Amino acid sequence: MTNRIRYCDECQCDREVRVVERENTLMYGNENFNIMEIFAQCTHCNAEVTDEELDTFTLTRLRQAYELKHSFDAQGIKNLRLHFGLTMNVFAKILNIGYSTLKRYESSGSSPDVTQIGIFKLLKAEPTSILKFYEVNKFNLTIDEQRVAESKFQQLFASPDNSPQNREANSAQLVLDDLEFISSTRPLDEETYTSFKKVIDYYRTNPVREPS
Ligand SMILES: [Zn+2]
Repeated sequence: MTNRIRYCDECQCDREVRVVERENTLMYGNENFNIMEIFAQCTHCNAEVTDEELDTFTLTRLRQAYELKHSFDAQGIKNLRLHFGLTMNVFAKILNIGYSTLKRYESSGSSPDVTQIGIFKLLKAEPTSILKFYEVNKFNLTIDEQRVAESKFQQLFASPDNSPQNREANSAQLVLDDLEFISSTRPLDEETYTSFKKVIDYYRTNPVREPS
């Protein structure tokens, strides 16, 4: 293990330093946060020594505390889950975290670690990324739970025009538009008429729904 050498203002020379942690209240974005600050201490005189690398660590912890409070506090995590319309049980299975862990997050019992915050951030910024988690972890879910989750995702992500019924109805509408155009330019032969007729019949029994 290499020694950490930093300049000590007290000793006025380079000294070996030790890395120390202490609980401290620091300000970030006009708010105070209690975090474990990390800093260097001179092994010769015990004075605190400037160490930019350790300052960066401390700042990262501070920023994480801030992000946690503002985006992914208990309510933030719950809101994220409710956005997907999922129960705690199903949401936990999709993200492959324990049900009791998620329950603790949502009741402020504990805070997610950096990796989990990263996942919540991703889901918030790009909600469709939940589909990737679902693909990987869906076998954690019972068949009934899979059905529920898939229907929630369908509601959330499939645009109304993209549902199977609407796709067909929209195709029918396109064919009808074509039909109108073609018949306005030349008479239709019997085969063409028959195939159009099928579509028209389909269209009549499956009217295109107005987007709500
Ligand atoms: Zn010193």
